[in-house]
Amino acid sequence: MRDFGGIVELRPARVVRPGSAREVAAAVREAAARGLEVVPRGLGHSAHGQSLTTGISLDLRGLAGVGEVGARHAAVGAGTSWREVLAATLPLGLTPPVLTDHLDVTVGGTISAGGIGGTSHLYGTQAENVLALDVVADGEPVACSPGVRPELFDAVRAGLGRHGVITGATLRLVPAPRRVLSCTIPCRDAADLLRVQREVRAEHISGQVKPSEDGWRFEAKAVLYRAGAAPPAGTARTEDLAYPEFTDRLRPDVEELIALGEWARPHPWGMVFLPASRAAAVIEATLAEMTPADLGLGVILIKALRVGHVPMLAVPDDPVLFGVLRTASPGCAPVAEMLAANRRLLDRALGIGGSRYPVDAVPATGQGPRGWAPKPRS
Ligand SMILES: Cc1cc2nc3c(=O)[nH]c(=O)nc-3n(C[C@H](O)[C@H](O)[C@H](O)COP(=O)(O)OP(=O)(O)OC[C@H]3O[C@@H](n4cnc5c(N)ncnc54)[C@H](O)[C@@H]3O)c2cc1C
Repeated sequence: MRDFGGIVELRPARVVRPGSAREVAAAVREAAARGLEVVPRGLGHSAHGQSLTTGISLDLRGLAGVGEVGARHAAVGAGTSWREVLAATLPLGLTPPVLTDHLDVTVGGTISAGGIGGTSHLYGTQAENVLALDVVADGEPVACSPGVRPELFDAVRAGLGRHGVITGATLRLVPAPRRVLSCTIPCRDAADLLRVQREVRAEHISGQVKPSEDGWRFEAKAVLYRAGAAPPAGTARTEDLAYPEFTDRLRPDVEELIALGEWARPHPWGMVFLPASRAAAVIEATLAEMTPADLGLGVILIKALRVGHVPMLAVPDDPVLFGVLRTASPGCAPVAEMLAANRRLLDRALGIGGSRYPVDAVPATGQGPRGWAPKPRS
């Protein structure tokens, strides 16, 4: 079995697709009795084998589904994708405050990673916008929230499934805008892009670095949810979009990458959090060592955000997410070279007080591709 990263391949002893929290608990107890690791899996979009195991693989897609949707919350199964959440909430004019760029990942999977989106400068991570969780811990189904078993609630959010299996979540919802104005702002360099992200007042803001004939090109995207709002200074292009279309904006690119066979290639992704005060220097130093061949048909993301109370997500003060999302496309650098470049990036990040995202992604110098030792689970 592989994940999206396509670098680690592990054959599970057994795949279980539980249909209830009780069946999850039974599988966890079976694993404990047989001395096997048990690893939850959502849609398998992890990049470094985090959702793989040689023990029992728990396919949480058996727990997909949206239950009650209230004026400010939705109760969903852990295996529900964010696309499925939106399909239930948008007709009621509601949306989760933070959405991942790609909607075909599960609620349980991204809460277990953290879950960062273009609104994370305002709302933090998806893990912070969960009101309560149903979890299987110590082989038993239990509920937790900030007020009930808060230590478990804090251990499973951004915990990558190591401290319990999330079976359901009560998600916070906010009113969804009907239309948005997406404004593209070309930037001079990394420092300018970070300045724009800090200064521009936009509900959704992101940054990318793209290869061009003149070297790396920096671009911020500020998306305004306010009807009739004026584009920010420096805007070169605007696009007026219906909110549902905006949330699913990656779909055409994903479909093209699937058609080209690029979606199935190895993805040696390197993602780190950098302290904002030193971020531009690390980003520029990383890009100075790179050519487009070191990225393949990949993407470079820069996103300043704020992270609230998520103890498992170690981030520096005033964090900036820097993601070098490489694809080992034909004719590009081989996987081993891309992994080595990720290690250099991680070493640089750690050297200035940064960290990795998700917490155990990007193997550090001296670690194998699955850069963490399996730990006892739930
Ligand atoms: C194309 C693409 C776009 C992405 N965009 C974003 C983005 O915008 N923002 C962002 O933050 N991340 C993004 N990611 C990373 C993504 O958040 C993680 O890969 C996430 O874990 C994927 O969810 P999944 O359902 O595929 O989880 P999986 O890969 O199946 O699992 C990920 C981890 O969570 C654990 N896990 C899964 N389900 C549960 C559960 N129910 N209970 C406990 N542990 C569980 C697994 O054991 C594993 O450790 C993206 C990844 C891809 C491939």
